[in-house]
Amino acid sequence: MSVLKIKDVSKIFPNGTTAVDSFSLDVADGELVCLLGPSGSGKSTLLRMVGGFETPTSGLMTIDGEDITRVPPEKRPTGMVFQSHALWTHMNVFKNLAFGLKLRKVPADEIKRRVEGVLELVGLGGYGTRSVTQLSGGQQQRVALARSLVLEPKILLLDEPFASLDQHLRERLREEVRDIQQRLKITTLFVTHGQDEALSMADRIVVMRDGKTEQIDRPDVVYREP
Ligand code: ADP
Ligand code: ADP
Repeated sequence: MSVLKIKDVSKIFPNGTTAVDSFSLDVADGELVCLLGPSGSGKSTLLRMVGGFETPTSGLMTIDGEDITRVPPEKRPTGMVFQSHALWTHMNVFKNLAFGLKLRKVPADEIKRRVEGVLELVGLGGYGTRSVTQLSGGQQQRVALARSLVLEPKILLLDEPFASLDQHLRERLREEVRDIQQRLKITTLFVTHGQDEALSMADRIVVMRDGKTEQIDRPDVVYREP
């Protein structure tokens, strides 16, 4: 069953740039789809629209049948992780994760349980009282991922989350995220311009160019030798 449906969506910015051009995609429950393409092909803009950070110029996007543009920000069923983690440096790890739950009036004991559970999941059990400024780049991205996951989003949106990390760490986090994604069975859109990243993680790959779909297929088909 499709959780996310994107139908003929376009985004034309006020300066006239068409970033996304009549794009359509259905994403199944629990699927990890990679949006792959060169810089400027519209991947981020598409992801930001699904996340509710940009409004489509035309077309329709639904999550479980509900028009995304009609959902108020605090009820968005998506969680987004960006390239630069944008953690709150004046709060410790626990508070970074608890913040969104407090806003949603989740009781304190449940906050504690959920935050500690998610920190375990991303391999940062016991890190709650650390200052985020003391963490390595990889650990900070794990916190950013945990901060999204703790809100239990229906769809996880990842915009080149490992781009600022070195190759070795990138490969490790890739495996960790794929593992977490499969354990939680969380529907995920992952933006990358790295073929190897898409190949190693995706259930399906959407190759984008100039705001359009160039190809949609399973990794083994996209990369099959001609
Ligand atoms: P990608 O994520 O694939 O690098 P983007 O979605 O960031 O691509 O950008 C797609 C196109 O839209 C690019 O030409 C980019 O310059 C343009 N673009 C992105 N955001 C804006 C904006 N806020 N205003 C105008 N043009 C934009
Ligand atoms: P990315 O690395 O994700 O492609 P960019 O560096 O292209 O991101 O863009 C960073 C920010 O600047 C985004 O918020 C994007 O919407 C905005 N942006 C990108 N291109 C343009 C543009 N031509 N005009 C205005 N804003 C832009």
